[in-house]
Amino acid sequence: MQRLLIVVTLLATGLALEGRVCIAADPLTVTSDFEGASVREVEIDDATRSISFIPGGDPVRGWPCWWYFRVNGIAPGETITLRLRGSTATVTKPGAPPQKPLASVWSMPAQATFSTDGKTWRHTEKGQRQDEWMIYKLKPESASVFVAWGPPYTPSTAAKFVREMSEKSPHAKATELCRSRGDRAVPMLHVQQGERTKEQRFGVWVQARQHAWESGSSWVAQGFAEWLLSDDADAAWLRQHAEIFIVPIMDVDNTASGNGGKDAQPQDHNRDWSPQPHWNEIIAAQRMVGGLIEEGRMDVFLDLHNPAPDDPTFFYVLSPELLKEPMIGLRDRFIQLAYSRISKIKPLIPMSNKPKVTGANYHPLWRQISANWVSLNGNPHTVSLTLETIWNYQNSTTEGYRAVGSNLAAAVREYLAERPVRQSRMALLD
Ligand SMILES: [Zn+2]
Repeated sequence: MQRLLIVVTLLATGLALEGRVCIAADPLTVTSDFEGASVREVEIDDATRSISFIPGGDPVRGWPCWWYFRVNGIAPGETITLRLRGSTATVTKPGAPPQKPLASVWSMPAQATFSTDGKTWRHTEKGQRQDEWMIYKLKPESASVFVAWGPPYTPSTAAKFVREMSEKSPHAKATELCRSRGDRAVPMLHVQQGERTKEQRFGVWVQARQHAWESGSSWVAQGFAEWLLSDDADAAWLRQHAEIFIVPIMDVDNTASGNGGKDAQPQDHNRDWSPQPHWNEIIAAQRMVGGLIEEGRMDVFLDLHNPAPDDPTFFYVLSPELLKEPMIGLRDRFIQLAYSRISKIKPLIPMSNKPKVTGANYHPLWRQISANWVSLNGNPHTVSLTLETIWNYQNSTTEGYRAVGSNLAAAVREYLAERPVRQSRMALLD
């Protein structure tokens, strides 16, 4: 009883110190011992209730721009401050000598993301840049809060999502693309409905997170799958006329360990589409996509990413000089349909009206970029694209990303409905 009284007195005293820290508040602590977490050089100042940090991540395993951790010990009604600096780790291009730290803008969204339950992710107010620091303030109204670069999406999230979709819909099957080099499952959703044979179905491949830090791209993939398995009549048409594969996270190992993935050693996942890929995910995806190509039904291949901080481009495509018809015309038609749908949410998601043309000048390993590999090795009618969804915008949220995904899926349906319906070989022989 006496102890309780002392605590109450201390609380009252603390609260009476206007503008001062409540002396009864617990010290702030930081934890990062969970899937996808990443933080380094944490310094906690309990006088100002602020936490200074840099992103964690081993640069050998990709750009150290992703950060994600948990703050505990927050008092009711308290505002805490996050003080972020860019990683000081030196990054290298594969095969090149050590260079310099990654530009800090990659790790500094205008608004950080937080969640008190690990499920619902919200933006903070806009951060303030102060010299080398980015300062975010948030009032979580909870003793513990997760904070991150953007809405996290881990291998567990992907596994749970594909499982829930398969339980919800008889047309969806939770499966695995492969196991990673780190012996983790790579969850994949397989969707088709009705009695059509494989050869009567369009082939659609959707993959995200070849770059582990680009968490928004997994939410786009999820939005695609949610629409596909919805009650929408167009979604049913797509399920009935196509066989669809969705991989929400390709690089599960770097995603699980909070590493960036981009420019990882010995090979960036999206530069690994060579005759001899290093990563298990690429070996498996290349084999399955190769199967669709062999069957003449690699119709739509979509590789999902997040771009540079202020790049509003949506689609990255190969220069038409490197391709032949009908591929160019079909691709441009798909982009037109996708733009008109995704731009319905404009100005929520600003975008430029033209795709960014890439090719030999873009990267020395340009042939080994997945969408390029599929274009160069695909069927004459294959549409293969990289979609870069803007991440540094007020609507770069789980809802915004999923809206892009659902509109993208609706565009795939609209595009394929214009294509000749696939006949079975038997029907062609009749
Ligand atoms: Zn990327």
